[in-house]
Amino acid sequence: MHDKDVNPGAEYPDMEIGANKKWAVGVPAIVHSMEYALTEMGPSRTARLLTSMNQKDGFDCMSCAWPDPGKRNILEFCENGAKAVTWEATPITVPTSFWAENSLTSLLDKSEYWLGQQGRLTEPVYKPAGSDHYEPVSWDRAFALIGERLKGLASPDEATFYTSGRTANETAFIYQLFVRAFGTNNLPDCSNMCHESTGTALGETIGIGKSTVAYDDFEKADLIIVMGQNPGTNHPRMLGALEEAKRNGATIVAVNPLPEAGLIRYKNPQRVRGIIGRGTAIADHFLQIRSGGDMALLQAISKRVLAAEAAAPGTVLDHAFIAAHTSGFDEFAENIARVDDHVVREATGLTDEEIETLAQLYAKSDKVIITWAMGLTQQKNAVATLKELISLLLLRGNIGKPGAGASPIRGHSNVQGDRTMGIWEQMSDRFLDALGKEFDFAPPRPHGADALQTVDGLKRGAIKVFFAMGGNFVAAISDTAVAEAAMRGAQLTVQVSTKLNRSHVVTGEEALTLPTLGRTEVDLQASGPQFVSVEDSVCAVHASHGKIPPVAPNILSEVAIVTRLARATLGDSTGIDWAGFEADYDKIRDHISRVVPGFERFNTDVRRKGGFILPNGPRDTRTFDTATGKAMFTVNELDPLDCPDGRLILQTMRAHDQFNTTIYSLNDRYRGVKNGRDVIFVNPEDIAELGLKDGQRVDIFSEWKDDPDRVLRNYRVVSYPTARGCAAAYYPEANVLIPLHSVSDYSNTPASKAVIVRLEPVGVLVP
Ligand code: SF4
Repeated sequence: MHDKDVNPGAEYPDMEIGANKKWAVGVPAIVHSMEYALTEMGPSRTARLLTSMNQKDGFDCMSCAWPDPGKRNILEFCENGAKAVTWEATPITVPTSFWAENSLTSLLDKSEYWLGQQGRLTEPVYKPAGSDHYEPVSWDRAFALIGERLKGLASPDEATFYTSGRTANETAFIYQLFVRAFGTNNLPDCSNMCHESTGTALGETIGIGKSTVAYDDFEKADLIIVMGQNPGTNHPRMLGALEEAKRNGATIVAVNPLPEAGLIRYKNPQRVRGIIGRGTAIADHFLQIRSGGDMALLQAISKRVLAAEAAAPGTVLDHAFIAAHTSGFDEFAENIARVDDHVVREATGLTDEEIETLAQLYAKSDKVIITWAMGLTQQKNAVATLKELISLLLLRGNIGKPGAGASPIRGHSNVQGDRTMGIWEQMSDRFLDALGKEFDFAPPRPHGADALQTVDGLKRGAIKVFFAMGGNFVAAISDTAVAEAAMRGAQLTVQVSTKLNRSHVVTGEEALTLPTLGRTEVDLQASGPQFVSVEDSVCAVHASHGKIPPVAPNILSEVAIVTRLARATLGDSTGIDWAGFEADYDKIRDHISRVVPGFERFNTDVRRKGGFILPNGPRDTRTFDTATGKAMFTVNELDPLDCPDGRLILQTMRAHDQFNTTIYSLNDRYRGVKNGRDVIFVNPEDIAELGLKDGQRVDIFSEWKDDPDRVLRNYRVVSYPTARGCAAAYYPEANVLIPLHSVSDYSNTPASKAVIVRLEPVGVLVP
């Protein structure tokens, strides 16, 4: 029996629900971004920043990791990028009095939106053990305190060091160096929660966990399949690349449970037809797949491609590529021959005709790109799904030729670069050998804790110090209540941040919040102004130069925070020139050039306008650093998601006015939601079948064997054209429904797109 609250009333009393939109961007995107920017930053700051954003001598957008074209427009950003800049570059600051006026207990009741609205953090603050308030503290005292606590641990593995995807290459490199010199590989990152499945699957099958396409490949492709992805909200400038591909004759197929506006039509604000015309239809075909059905679809297409080859031998497969560059074809083909069409129909919710259409398109297209995001990576079978995606591409040699390839799209600006720099709990011996040789020490070898293992370690008391370089860990991770309880068990939690969020409020016994510079701000050090660098989704590395003065004088750069932390913790014991790193970031890049392959001429190449492209074996030379030395076809058993009658498959997703856990406003324009977030989108036929009504309030229960149900209370049912049997609710609120152990096999990524839920009308007792 669950305790049941009587409906306490909606959390967002002013919420309005309208129709979902059939196109994305256009004039409203310009109006919304300018309105927000001008209100928050004023005209001159807005003009200065938005004309520098994503330019070759400007700063890199801190939002998603979509790449930049070679030729840039004067304004090279999207609505979401403008919001991200505005959010960071606001001149509003948190006053010193805030800390005395607001207890941590009172801040627990504030929303993410409210916390972010308080402005930029300007001074380090400390919460002593037993206190309910942060209080200002000097930087020296803050570093001394962290150093003392770290040195007091029984083992370095009792500390963990999280990284968010905003962290630049230079910071990431010295951060992982410090952590490994301290003695642990506990380096969880946000990638653990998003594209870890991509890294696992692609690392095994093609030898690199990254995209095999370059930016220009999009304009050369014949067919682009966009799977489990909502570019209109999560990486809007990708719509420009898709529009360009359409103009060059490409066919685009979208595979998604929701008919997202950006997948339907794009009104490019840089073109007349996007301002006053109808814009460009993006998806030629929309396959409205059931959540979790992607692996079945990919296998079904491979089956049809193999059947077409059998019917007309030598005409469909790329035999020369398969013979020269792959292994495992025969076993793969045998397994695919067993794929049951009935199971595929059930798993995908698609008709044979829809699947056949895509299979025929694939078989006749010479250059195919498949792109994907969280819709594929946050499934229980995500790794197997992505291995099937690679196998499908291999069948027709769609890796390592112009206009073709596998293209995971990353959600945070330098999440890929952080990995390249060594932020991973399981870096290879090759990397650790090079790091140890460069700095004359022995990096620890046992794998460290990833994000979920960090929560588990905190829960068990095995991890006592949690340090976060950016991000909002307790909001981002699944099983919110468990994660927050675990965090409260820490002896010390430290957050390096630009603005307040939930993770500053859910603290360990002692806590510190350290304010840091934003990407937009000039980073002045002893040798002069510094720049940093980032790597985008297609492996291009480029510089990012801050443009405006720091919002307050007492803020340190992330690099300075790491170097001072290292000195306070390690003293002179390592012989590493931490002070030199802080004074001149070129010194960091010199070390990177000797440790990380592809960066050999880093200080020279990064100064070229537009930066440089990292080497990529599969893309450049069709070489594959795998167990067989070739690209690997694999055998994966289909294990479709079992959704009992009367239940729905729920996926979590962002609203349009949101970036990861950051909420810019309470609106989701494309899905017709205004002033609210407590909604669950359900297909109208499912609403009727469940005996519910549009607009009704329900509690959402997720059911877990051998584990208590999780619940989100008092959500409004919104009739929406989702795939039958599927529902959607906003992240991060819906994270409470996902227990820590509900993960993708092999990658340990939260299975946020495959949550089986039942909806109970509010006010009805649950037996
Ligand atoms: S597409 Fe991504 S990187 Fe580009 S401006 Fe928009 S949010 Fe920023």
